[in-house]
Amino acid sequence: MDAPRRDFWKKPRKLVRPPIDNPNAGVYNEIMNVYLDYAASAPLRSEVREEMLRAFDEFGNPDSLHAYGRRAADLLLRARDRVAAVLGVSPAEVYFTAGGTEADNWAVRCLGEKDVLLSPAEHAAVLEAAPLRDGKAHFCRVDENGIVSTDSVYTMPESVGLVAVMGANNEVGSLQPVKELAEAAHARGAVFFSDCVQAACSQDLKEILRHADAISLSAHKLGGPKGAGVLAVKKGVKLRRLIAGGEQERGLRGGTADLAAAVGMARSLELAAAEREAFCRHTGALRDLFERTLRRELGEGVRIDGANRVPNISHLTFAQGSDALLSLLDLHGVAASGGAACSAHAARPSHVMRAMGRSEREARQGVRFSFGMETREEEVLFAARVVADCLK
Ligand code: PLP
Repeated sequence: MDAPRRDFWKKPRKLVRPPIDNPNAGVYNEIMNVYLDYAASAPLRSEVREEMLRAFDEFGNPDSLHAYGRRAADLLLRARDRVAAVLGVSPAEVYFTAGGTEADNWAVRCLGEKDVLLSPAEHAAVLEAAPLRDGKAHFCRVDENGIVSTDSVYTMPESVGLVAVMGANNEVGSLQPVKELAEAAHARGAVFFSDCVQAACSQDLKEILRHADAISLSAHKLGGPKGAGVLAVKKGVKLRRLIAGGEQERGLRGGTADLAAAVGMARSLELAAAEREAFCRHTGALRDLFERTLRRELGEGVRIDGANRVPNISHLTFAQGSDALLSLLDLHGVAASGGAACSAHAARPSHVMRAMGRSEREARQGVRFSFGMETREEEVLFAARVVADCLK
């Protein structure tokens, strides 16, 4: 059987000259619709959709004792086993959630005692959950690439019982030294949690979980459904209850399980783990091509942000950037974002860029381009040309 087509969602090209109002702009023979916002959400994979459709048909409540319930419970059990196998943990260490935001909230509010230490470049799901915790929030330092210094963990106040530092930053893609940070947290008697929502496509999650006590994941960054996530918490680490009202998720998150979401989470995670190396090769080559092409076109007019980055994210600051750039790119068929999709409507400077020491002006000028397995070389070259033309 042929492998399922992964780019069925791509719109056909239009053979028109795009309306760039600029006499120096290149002449295009055609305009493509190029999606470069995989870090916001990746297209649902057909293998995932098919399995989810079958799971939707298992309508029984997994907590019912009759045959319908048992069939649903069996599917849920298997989904948990499959996630556990990819993460190298036991099924009892896997908690299903309604997405990455919930998993982050749960971890930040319900792991470790007393205070929390976090990086100011965390996702809003971590930053905004911190004040809801019983205990104070302390912030560690990050360098100009958004990377947390291990020293700030060794020197944190004694009252800190939880350290939360993400695996990979969702705006600039910088990878954090998770092993060293976890060691430092443990040396100070704290639990170490890492939001791995953006690290999951390209990093070895088993390796991360060898050091971290807990990680969060989100299915829709992996070709799975939105509203499906995982919080994995290692045995022996106490997790407090998030939602009262039922025995589900070992009594810590009440509510009838979303079976199709759990199945979609499991399948997308398995697929992502199986193609991790190919993903890194493919997206890394495209990202390098994109950045090389823009460097050639714009020279010093473009700055590549972050360091030690995941291969699928390119965050760029343009000297000629403006608030209108993203809309202009969209008009010309290129979908990118100004940072985190969940803050896109806020028109605020990026808190990640501010944490990296950038001025307020620069923190408004960044654009995140992110790539996936369906992205093609010609699309990247087209997008680079549109960016250069829009800026010139
Ligand atoms: N954490 C990070 C690093 C993210 O990038 C995102 C989504 O953009 C989330 C958490 C939230 O995940 P979800 O969209 O599943 O709520």
